[in-house]
Amino acid sequence: MAIDGPAGSGKSTVGWWLARRLGYHYLDTGAMYRAAAWKLHRSGIPTADGTGLSEAMNAMEIDLCDEPTGLRVLVDGEDVTAEIRSPRMAMLASQYSALPAVRARLTQLQRAWKGAEGVVAEGRDTTTVVFPDAELKVFLDATPEERARRRLAEIEARGTGVDGPTVRQEIEDRDRADATRALAPLARASGALYIDTTGLPVEDVVERLAKEVERLCSTGS
Ligand code: C5P
Repeated sequence: MAIDGPAGSGKSTVGWWLARRLGYHYLDTGAMYRAAAWKLHRSGIPTADGTGLSEAMNAMEIDLCDEPTGLRVLVDGEDVTAEIRSPRMAMLASQYSALPAVRARLTQLQRAWKGAEGVVAEGRDTTTVVFPDAELKVFLDATPEERARRRLAEIEARGTGVDGPTVRQEIEDRDRADATRALAPLARASGALYIDTTGLPVEDVVERLAKEVERLCSTGS
């Protein structure tokens, strides 16, 4: 099943717990875009060099290790779990994610990930491009205030100082870029279940989606 939505809509938290609840694998596609951006930025390949980017993407190994404490992200064996979560890496991920060479390779890896069976995938284009035939497609949303509040809490929990207005601006800029780019923009897939998670406990959203997946699986529809 696949979940898309803007930054701070609850995709990662809901996706992580839902995967546990269903016994599925959790695929955080945003972590892949962040990891690729981290590596490409460090390699210094110009964003206009499509061939260079394709080669770098084909040579790159991204591992998402689903551990009980959370997701561990490795790029070519290097642990980038903490580094890729900074607001700067989020912006870089958004910029690199608009490039065809980056999207083509990551989409391929995502479709092949764990055989694509029993997967909770989440991101910006998992319901529209990566898994358009997912048994359940969900679009999570929340008010801009709530999304900024969640992102701020996350950043503070990591011990990084940042102010509220900056976080809100960062989210707005990134959502605009993600929703207006030419390739695989953030959009509500037709038939996607829309949930506004503002004020909803995570457990309630997880339970509702788990029941929906179970219902679809039992009816085979
Ligand atoms: O979900 P997260 O905030 O970690 O994603 C970081 C960035 O990666 C997004 O802002 C978006 O630009 C990009 N992304 C994407 N397609 C996805 C997942 C993430 O373009 N499926």
